[in-house]
Formats: sequence, structure tokens, C-alpha cells
Amino acid sequence: MTTAHWLFGDQLGPHFLSPGEDGPDRDVPVVIIEARSVFRRRRFHRAKAHLVLSAMRHRAAELGGRVRYVRSETYREGLREAVGDDTVTVHQPTSHAVLRLVESLGTVTVLPARGFLVPRPAFSAWADARGGRPLRQEDFYRWVRREHELLMDADAPAGGRWNLDHDNREPPPRGERTLGAPAPYRPREDDIDERVRHDLDRWEREGTVRFVGRDGPRRFPASRREALAALRRFTEHRLAGFGPHEDAMLAADPVMSHSLLSSSLNLGLLHPLECVERAERAWRAGQAPLNSVEGFVRQIAGWREYVWQLYWHFGDDYRDSNALRHDAPLPDWFLELDADAVTARCLATALAQVRDTGWTHHIPRLMLLGSYALQRGWDPRAVTDWFHRCFVDGYDWVMLPNVVGMSQYADGGRMTTKPYTSGGSYVNRMSDLCKGCAYRPTERSGDRACPYTTGYWAFLHRHRRRLAGNHRTAQAVRGLDRLADLDELLGRNTELGDAPP
Ligand code: FAD
Repeated sequence: MTTAHWLFGDQLGPHFLSPGEDGPDRDVPVVIIEARSVFRRRRFHRAKAHLVLSAMRHRAAELGGRVRYVRSETYREGLREAVGDDTVTVHQPTSHAVLRLVESLGTVTVLPARGFLVPRPAFSAWADARGGRPLRQEDFYRWVRREHELLMDADAPAGGRWNLDHDNREPPPRGERTLGAPAPYRPREDDIDERVRHDLDRWEREGTVRFVGRDGPRRFPASRREALAALRRFTEHRLAGFGPHEDAMLAADPVMSHSLLSSSLNLGLLHPLECVERAERAWRAGQAPLNSVEGFVRQIAGWREYVWQLYWHFGDDYRDSNALRHDAPLPDWFLELDADAVTARCLATALAQVRDTGWTHHIPRLMLLGSYALQRGWDPRAVTDWFHRCFVDGYDWVMLPNVVGMSQYADGGRMTTKPYTSGGSYVNRMSDLCKGCAYRPTERSGDRACPYTTGYWAFLHRHRRRLAGNHRTAQAVRGLDRLADLDELLGRNTELGDAPP
């Protein structure tokens, strides 16, 4: 009897069905389960629910008669409906909870994970070989480059340097409203999207599922064909400009030269190797400069892989980390993505981008949304949940290290060497968002004090003892002693409280 293979909604590319030692048998029947309980449990961004359902249904349409597509309340019920008591195989799911679930079913054989460059045992061997030294991303990334011969000239990094970050931290071009990059790929909705919209409307009307955010025209690929077109468009037309302004923000140009490929990678529509190999080919063909290509390869072969590995390495308890003992609840205006209630132009802009598209690039995530939460002492678990629900590319594995570790420093420094937060001056240097804002980035107290500037100093003050002992933040903490208006500043910060800034 043939054993069917179960595909989760983030395992939708061809590499999840290709046979091999660790893969399903050739041409086996496929099971896809749309479990409504997933959408009931959390209040997702509607554009995210739309994208995931559209992608699952597009995959089912591609697989035709080979797939058993089941709509059920839970995965357990769906699997029973699809195969009864028969056994199935599945590639390792991407969250601790779903891995536990499939292991508990008794009829499921779990095959190794796919969709990443580094197998988990190889990472464990690398981590063991570090002999207790910190598992820093830069070391991991160089090891991945060597192992996969990415951007290498024999044993040396292409161009002679591993790290070209220095060339990739430029502020936005002065006086320009946009970067002027060629437009990114935009998919065209089809009948499947129409049916998804119809179902989501019905669920909302029935009151069984609630969403947040706007479900405008779908912006992200929902099929392999669309994802390949997006990758091609990026590598051929946009990659060349990826590097220099990677960390900059422009109010009128939210995407700049970013690839918009995260949701396609995380849905499994693209494999990371094909993305980095295409980028490298573009450099070798003289179509993109090395700093842009290295920057892109670093994001995928470095950061994305590192985050995936840390998720499993740190274990499920990592989500409860709260080294700074932050426990404030998220205010309603933030939960509801109520950008119109916010006066601070930078935060209003980023929140509006999330509301309207379920996406912002990494600097608004880290230095606007995450930084604001960190400065206000919001509960890191709730912040993680918010990011997970509100971003089209959010999944448990990618959320935990990025939010608990990188953004909220809730792990006390296991992932990063210092908390990522700043005053308004950083935002002013790296964006045009302070222009026309009611607040002034350099003012710490008074009515026009920038909420990021007061928040930054208040954060340093609150965690003074811990941060004074960290060589990367000690100098900033010493700056507190030079502030003549510290009390006034703290008062202004408290005044702001939970109200939208
Ligand atoms: P680009 O800037 O074009 O980068 C190329 C690719 O690199 C991305 O598509 C992504 O696959 C990968 N990448 C880069 N950095 C990371 C990273 N830190 N973790 C994982 N992949 C990375 N990324 C997600 O995929 N899902 C998330 O839910 C997510 N949440 C984040 C939350 C916070 C607080 C922060 C600071 C970062 C988060 N990131 C997340 C990482 C990064 O912000 C997004 O991957 C990126 O903005 C997606 O846009 P893009 O595809 O245009 O990326």
C-alpha cells in the first residue's frame, strides 16, 4: 500500500515532494489540510490569512487529482478524514507545537526538515565544535558560505572580504522621496483568490474568526510560478541596488530595494539555495555589485538560516524568556494597527504599512515597532504574538529569535550582544520620517520631545545596572549622568504612558 505524504501550508514548493533518501516515495498521494482552528486561535492579519489559504489552494490546484484537500476544524480531524488510520509521512513541521502534534498522532513518520541550507545535525555539530563559545551569526554565516561554496574564490571570500556591511549602511539619498528602484513584482489575483475572499468574508460574518488589518489586492506570490517570477524580477532588476540603502527608510517608498521574498521562502515556494545561487550568478555576470549580492546572501544564508537553527537549538522554553522583566500589556491602538491615532510620523508610517500590507522591511520592524515596544516595557510574549499575527511572513520559528532575542532582548543577550533601540536621532539620520513630524528628534523633554528619544533614555535609566555592565552599552549609560533634564525627561515619558505617541 502507498503511504501518502502530508504537506503543511508552509511546505508548498516542489522540493517538499522530491523523492530522495529523506523524502516521500515518488508520486505518492498528497494530503493538505486546511484547519480552521489555526485561524480561530489567533487574530491574524487578514492579508496573511488570504495569502496562506491562497497558496495552499494554488498548490492543490497544481497537484490536481494527486491531492486530498481537506477542510476541517483541526489537523487531527482532517488527517482522519483524509486517510483514516493509514500511515502518512511528513517533513518536519516548522514549530515545536506542530512537531509535538504530529509525533503524538502515532500514524505519522516525520522526515527531516526541508527548505533550509543546513541540516539540523550539521548545525549541532558546528555548535558543539564551538566548545561553549557564543554562537555568533557572523561565524555561522562564514561557515555556511564555505560549506556551500557561496561567493567563494577557492578558500577565500569573493572580493577578499567576508563582510561588506560597511558599504550597506548608507542613509537614504538626500532630497529624494524614493530610491527610484524598478518596481517589484506584483501578482495578479485569480479565481482562487476570489473564493478565498469569499470564505474569509463568510467566516467574519459568522463571527467565528476575527482578523486585523486590510486585505487589499494580494501583493505576495501564492504559487511557485508567481514566486519564480518575483525572484527573477528581483535578481534581474532590483538586486543591484539592494545593498547601499538596506538600512534606510523613506516614507513614500516602503519597499525600496528589498526583495519581498520572505513570504515566498517561508511558504516553501522558493528554496533559499536557488535564491542565493541566482544572486551569485548575477554578480559573476557583472549584473550586480558585490556589496549588494553579499548583503542579500548574508540575509538568506546567514540570518535566515541562523534564526531557523537557533529556534530549535534554544528549545521551546525560549519563548518564555523575559530577562528584562517587561510585563506591560500592548495598548489597543497598537493591537488594532490604528496608525491614524499616532502622531509620531515614523511610527504612524510603519504601523500604516503593517495595517495595509502585513509587511515592512527589517529596519521599521527592529528600530520603530520593536524598539517602541522595548522602550515601553511591553511583555515580550505579547510582542512576539503581535508580530506573528500581523506579518505575512511571520511563523513561530522566525518570530522567536527575531522578536524575543533580537528585538526585545528578552533572552538577556543569548542572540545579540546588546539591545537594539535608539533615540530619534538614529531615525532622523536613516530616514526622511522626522521631516514634518510634530516631535523633534533632538528634544528630550517638553511637548515636542521625540517619544523615541525620551523612551531611549528612560529605557537606559530603567536598566541602568545591567546595561552599565555591557561593554556595548556602558558608554551610553554613562551619558545618563550628563543629562541635566533627566527627571523632566522621565516625567514626559511617563506622561505618554499607553497613549499613542
Ligand atoms: P530582504 O531585505 O530582501 O532580505 C532577503 C531575505 O533575507 C528575506 O526575504 C528573508 O527571507 C531573509 N532574512 C533577512 N533577515 C532575516 C531574519 N532576521 N530572519 C529571517 N529571515 C531573514 N523575517 C521573516 O521572514 N518573518 C518574520 O516574521 C520576521 N519577523 C521579524 C521581526 C523583527 C522584529 C525583525 C527585526 C525581523 C524580522 N524578520 C522576519 C526579518 C526581516 O525583517 C524580514 O525577513 C524582511 O524584512 C522581509 O522582507 P524582504 O523579503 O524584502 O527581505
